[in-house]
Amino acid sequence: MPVTLLGAAEIRALAADLDVTPTKKLGQNFVVDANTVRKIVTAARVTSADRVVEVGPGLGSLTLAILETGAPVTAVEIDHRLAERLPATAAAHGVPDGALTVVAQDALRVSELPGDPDVLVANLPYNVSVPVLLHFMEHFPTIQRGVVMVQAEVGERLAAPSGSKVYGAPSVKAAWYGSWRLAGTVSRQVFWPVPNVDSVLVGFERDAAARGTEEERLRTFAIVDAAFQQRRKMLRQALSAVLGGSSAAASEVLERAGVAPTARGEELTIEDFVRIARA
Ligand code: SAM
Repeated sequence: MPVTLLGAAEIRALAADLDVTPTKKLGQNFVVDANTVRKIVTAARVTSADRVVEVGPGLGSLTLAILETGAPVTAVEIDHRLAERLPATAAAHGVPDGALTVVAQDALRVSELPGDPDVLVANLPYNVSVPVLLHFMEHFPTIQRGVVMVQAEVGERLAAPSGSKVYGAPSVKAAWYGSWRLAGTVSRQVFWPVPNVDSVLVGFERDAAARGTEEERLRTFAIVDAAFQQRRKMLRQALSAVLGGSSAAASEVLERAGVAPTARGEELTIEDFVRIARA
């Protein structure tokens, strides 16, 4: 039996049956358009050989489109009402036993996932999209690539090169793990309820080699946070705060790293930040 997708009317009926009114707090904007969920799965190049993890499956519209490819899915959902219903929805839509595993948990607290997933596909809850992405890149090194839907401003930041207007701490931290690109736009009209922000697809590929040790990552991220908290200030000033107030020590570190003390965070690449952390 082939897997069939959810229609708009069925999604609303499912929500009504569960007595679920979509909440902003959990970023519950459900995709009610089959073309859009298939577009996300196509952008992620999911095949039956992949093992997919989805964050926030909701009522299951994207989940079924991933399962339609034959790839097994582990879905992490914080809302217990939605998590409990998902297996029955999948079974009613032709998903074979064992293809879907539901983890009813906050994605930010998940530390183990069954099945060593290699692809992340998600329509992320907007208020926690960057923390969820960084958490998954950090805790699940088997994830090699993915496509996620996020708020347009967040997607532009994740994919921004150094020096661009929207380049910020999320851009540098994401670049620690790999390369990020914009992979398409999505109309507000495909959601229920219709959100008051635009959405984009963001694709990523994990770098083959790790950039450094865990200690180096923590130090790099602390310097990145300091550099972008004081966006207008020169790096020497931001770094001296991290080094306990010594401007001379900050200048010395920057010199050792080969970075001009007068540079600003937004001009530096992830490689520059890592050199500063090592220095
Ligand atoms: N994938 C579904 C779709 O495309 O229709 C729903 C996407 S909706 C934008 C986000 C989903 O993430 C909701 O189902 C919400 O309950 C869930 N969610 C919100 N915060 C979460 C968290 N911290 N961990 C796991 N799921 C979360």
